[in-house]
Amino acid sequence: MEDYPRTLRELESRFATEQACRDYLARLRWPQGFACPTCKGTEAWSTGRGLWMCAACGHQVSVTAGTIFQDTRTPLTLWFRAIWWVVSQKNGASALGLQRILGLGSYRTAWTWLHKLRRAMVRPGRERLSEMVEVDETFVGGVESGGGRRHVGKKALVVIAAEVRGRAIGRIRMQRVADSSAESLLPLVQEAVGPGTVVITDGLQSYRALPDLGYRHDRRVLLGSGESADAVLPRVHRVASLLKRWLLGTHQGAVSREHLDYYLDEFTFRFNRRTSRHRGKLFNRLLEQAVAVDPVPYAAMVKGVRGPKRKKRHHNG
Ligand SMILES: [Zn+2]
Repeated sequence: MEDYPRTLRELESRFATEQACRDYLARLRWPQGFACPTCKGTEAWSTGRGLWMCAACGHQVSVTAGTIFQDTRTPLTLWFRAIWWVVSQKNGASALGLQRILGLGSYRTAWTWLHKLRRAMVRPGRERLSEMVEVDETFVGGVESGGGRRHVGKKALVVIAAEVRGRAIGRIRMQRVADSSAESLLPLVQEAVGPGTVVITDGLQSYRALPDLGYRHDRRVLLGSGESADAVLPRVHRVASLLKRWLLGTHQGAVSREHLDYYLDEFTFRFNRRTSRHRGKLFNRLLEQAVAVDPVPYAAMVKGVRGPKRKKRHHNG
């Protein structure tokens, strides 16, 4: 049986100290026990302050090195509460909510935390979707452009891929795209879906080159009024409506573009772990992935979400 906190009270009593948090991270990071990166030794002492010293060669390893917690000046106890809070928000975690609940000094800090966690939600090197996958684009409404002025009501185009598993949905991937051209869509399909997979799309011309890229393309052209897009691509359409309902739940559908990217990843993280209904399990998964990813400096994150047209102003919410 997995070992994770089940209630907020349990979380708070169990992770009351930095050492307790570090011990937990160490267990997630080295599930088979400590492994020295220098000599492969398996015995280590905790020297305090998050350092483990290899018993064989004396090499010191920090449990947070190379993770999203590296160089953080924030106590891990606070990070753990933030993660617990994020997984507890069924309709998505907002930066403002996080700022309030943790009493963080600034909105920007809360925003940075969410984006750090986003890196943990989309674990690098994750497996691509396989076997049979539906792909389609959908408009998500109420997106404000990033930066200063609000443009409520603008729509963003999101491409969704959903695995066909019998009548059910397997794993999903989704990402915002600039437009529905082949140049925009095909690289995303390649990123999300493994070669050799049957990819089901509608008749959009942009997908015509899929066979050249090593996919088996099942192109379903809608035949007049008798057939709806829902009927040929039921899974992506179901995911799209769940996503929209989820976004409406907390934000009345209106989010900035950079926040939309965050929410797409959070939705995907939750959806792909929807059988782990217990929040303690989600908490555990997110921490597990958090200790498995590289730290991303704030500047790189902003660049990542803004793209090449980076503005001088940062988010001012
Ligand atoms: Zn060693």
